[in-house]
Amino acid sequence: SPADIENGRRAYELDRAHVFHSWQAQALFEPMTVLAASGSHVWDGKGNRLIDLSSQLVNTNIGHQHPAVVAAIQEQAGRLCTIAPQHVNDMRSEAARLVSELTPQGLDTVFFTNGGADANEHAIRMARLHTGRQKVLSAYRSYHGGTQLAVNVTGDPRRFANDYFGEGVVHFMPAYTYRSYFGSTTEEEESERALRHLEDMILLEGPQNIAALILETIPGTAGIYLPPPGYLAGVRELTRRHGIVLIADEVMAGFGRSGAWFAFDHWDLTPDLITFAKGINSGYVPLGGVVISDEIAATFDERAYPGGLTYSGHPLACAAAVATITAMREEGMIENAARLGREVIGPRLREIAERHPSVGEVRGIGCFWAVELVKNRETREPLAPYGGSSPAMTELTKALKDGGVLPFVNFNRVHVVPPLNIADDDLLAGLAVLDEALEVADAHVE
Ligand code: PLP
Repeated sequence: SPADIENGRRAYELDRAHVFHSWQAQALFEPMTVLAASGSHVWDGKGNRLIDLSSQLVNTNIGHQHPAVVAAIQEQAGRLCTIAPQHVNDMRSEAARLVSELTPQGLDTVFFTNGGADANEHAIRMARLHTGRQKVLSAYRSYHGGTQLAVNVTGDPRRFANDYFGEGVVHFMPAYTYRSYFGSTTEEEESERALRHLEDMILLEGPQNIAALILETIPGTAGIYLPPPGYLAGVRELTRRHGIVLIADEVMAGFGRSGAWFAFDHWDLTPDLITFAKGINSGYVPLGGVVISDEIAATFDERAYPGGLTYSGHPLACAAAVATITAMREEGMIENAARLGREVIGPRLREIAERHPSVGEVRGIGCFWAVELVKNRETREPLAPYGGSSPAMTELTKALKDGGVLPFVNFNRVHVVPPLNIADDDLLAGLAVLDEALEVADAHVE
């Protein structure tokens, strides 16, 4: 309505005057106003409806305003809005039970945080205290969060301005077949060579000094490059052999995104610590956490854990998590995500790849897909430089929005990461917009 649009206009002015935004040069930033959102749709400041193929920051796995989750938050607000973390709370207890039911046997304890970054910070702290070691191995081309240690273990350019020495973080090259650092031409080769590299790194850094290896099971923002067969099993074997705590960062990949509750379910991996956030309650109320193996949990049986948060296991966030997990189960959202990947997104993206010379590779699983764009299919030169953008990518993003799609774009990639319960028709409509918009990218092919 005109009143909504006027309200949005005023909100924009106040935003530009008073709100400081994440990751932006504040004076150059032109944020999009969202007047409303429902299911897989958002309405921009002019009242245009967009299909959300981004799930915001890949977190609204159940879409916007799921009625059961909204009702659960409202009900909990009426019962008890907040309580200090040292007290027992029924919603926190139930959320912890549900999460530990979903994770492998032997991981039965949950420490709740406010989001993904602090989950990783705490996981690393636990690993260091448990092992008595200091160093942390993490992959280049990864993202683990914006706080100090989390951004240091991050392997994408967001860490550059925050890189301080002395954190004990050492980066290794992950397995990434399309842009193999190791010159591999097959997945088998990539897996084997990346594991040999990792084994060398461990030996050269001194296994006795390495507390943890942190890895996104399927790297998200860094490119949704799936681990080749054997890679995760190899990482598990190496870390186990050397007494290194394996932390699986499932912040983006977890809670159904990949068509399984956790991405490691696809490869039968049992990590020592699992970090989660985003999809646990689709971000309706901020929540993250660490699922802790019984062995590591035992370290803190007789010895106090030196860490905590005022809002650990916040009742509103936990009530939202209980309702979200329940809705996901009852509505078969995990199975639906798997089906959408297998029957809709995968086939349609492969068709799109055939039609457009700017598409270097499409890859993914469930509702977790990347379209990697190149100037040239032979050389695989990316359509935007690593860590940056380009006129081609800017034009493509604009074409997607003009066509009615809210995209997730990173460097030279468009990610197709819709809510797991998006209607097939909406998804197909969004993919048709992508198909057409890619002609803009094709014009930049050399
Ligand atoms: N880990 C991964 C894999 C992520 O994708 C993100 C956020 O995008 C984080 C950690 C950080 O989570 P948060 O922004 O909730 O701190």
